[in-house]
Amino acid sequence: MSRQNITILGSTGSIGVSTLDVIRRHPERYRAYALCAHSQVDRLFAQCQEFHPAFAVVRDAELAGDLAGRCRAAGLPTEVRHGVEALAELAAAAEVDAVMAAIVGAAGLEPTLAAARAGKRVMLANKEALVMAGELFMHAVRENDATLLPVDSEHNAIFQSLPADFARGLAACGVRRILLTASGGPFRDTPLADLRQVTPEQACAHPNWVMGRKISVDSATMMNKGLEVIEARWLFAAPPEMIQVVVHPQSVMHSAVQYADGSLLAQLGNPDMRTPIAHALAWPERIDAGVAALDLFAVGRLDFLPPAAERFPCLQLAYDALHAGGTAPAILNAANEVAVAAFLDRRLPFLGIARLNEAVLQAVPALAGDSLDDVLAADAEARRCAGEMLRQGSCA
Ligand code: NAD
Ligand code: MG
Repeated sequence: MSRQNITILGSTGSIGVSTLDVIRRHPERYRAYALCAHSQVDRLFAQCQEFHPAFAVVRDAELAGDLAGRCRAAGLPTEVRHGVEALAELAAAAEVDAVMAAIVGAAGLEPTLAAARAGKRVMLANKEALVMAGELFMHAVRENDATLLPVDSEHNAIFQSLPADFARGLAACGVRRILLTASGGPFRDTPLADLRQVTPEQACAHPNWVMGRKISVDSATMMNKGLEVIEARWLFAAPPEMIQVVVHPQSVMHSAVQYADGSLLAQLGNPDMRTPIAHALAWPERIDAGVAALDLFAVGRLDFLPPAAERFPCLQLAYDALHAGGTAPAILNAANEVAVAAFLDRRLPFLGIARLNEAVLQAVPALAGDSLDDVLAADAEARRCAGEMLRQGSCA
């Protein structure tokens, strides 16, 4: 078998680094073809030194000049490019076999869509892309014969627990329900009154997973689970009422599928993203991910609880956006990106995230359309509205 060329969108992030760790273990199978980052040039240069990619991409011409100079001085074969067009081109290039979509937020949409349109194997971590443009994205996957493999641990678990031909319809496959597990994040048991004062540092200290800052905050508000409900709706063509969120503090059962005959199939493992990454890279084969075997005796017990609605209002907002349809999920996603950035910047209290999300979802009218232009217009209008509300301090 010839080596597969992999483009990593977001190579310097948490998922990107874990992806390179799996690739490092299988040099005979995978080659890092293009490594794309935003502004972390030091880390990207270190990755270029180790993996000798054909291309590296950074945000702008100045950073590209800096990186290109260092690559030249080190005698590396890497050509350095910059900007969003370069991301889309390297996601779609003829030499590329598979694309790891691991940019955080709306910025990942266009290059991930370019990979789907080019019929690539798309390994999807960037859930925001699917939340924003689910219909459009799934259409591009089908029309261009792309292979879409979920990397989000829950969706990867669901994928593994479904029959191979689930695309013919969940009901036809005897599926009754999807059980989407959630750890409950760092504030699962924090007294509600104390949530007013929590800091970005506390919100980013996830009990089970080490992740980027945006998804860590999303886990603390459970907006992450809301985004994942929308993600599951599109990935598996699942009606929202078929998707049930289950709080499972140990993060060992990564999600499950219930069938008509009473069977419940689940995927379990240690909470380490290298497992779903290796699954997506090798599927339908299995490769070593560098992850220790799950020790059930050490785990001892698994707990399951219903999510507390008053503690996690963002979860309901996601169901509301799904019911509203059209561009409503894109509006919610954009509001949340602004809200999380403001919280991390200490310009918005933790509880203000849900308030801002709700206010923007109500204020910005959702369009019924789902073209890329509609989605990008809704995203821009929701950001503008959220920025205005932040300035007025109406959600503080
Ligand atoms: P991160 O913040 O650690 O990394 C983000 C990466 O995206 C970095 O490489 C950064 O350089 C790049 N990036 C950011 N903005 C960019 C832009 N405008 N243009 C180009 N590149 C840009 O985030 P992460 O935790 O690795 O998460 C990445 C994605 O994967 C998110 O969508 C997240 O929801 C999803 N995800 C992450 C995990 C996890 O365990 N970290 C689990 C499931 C899903
Ligand atoms: Mg997840």
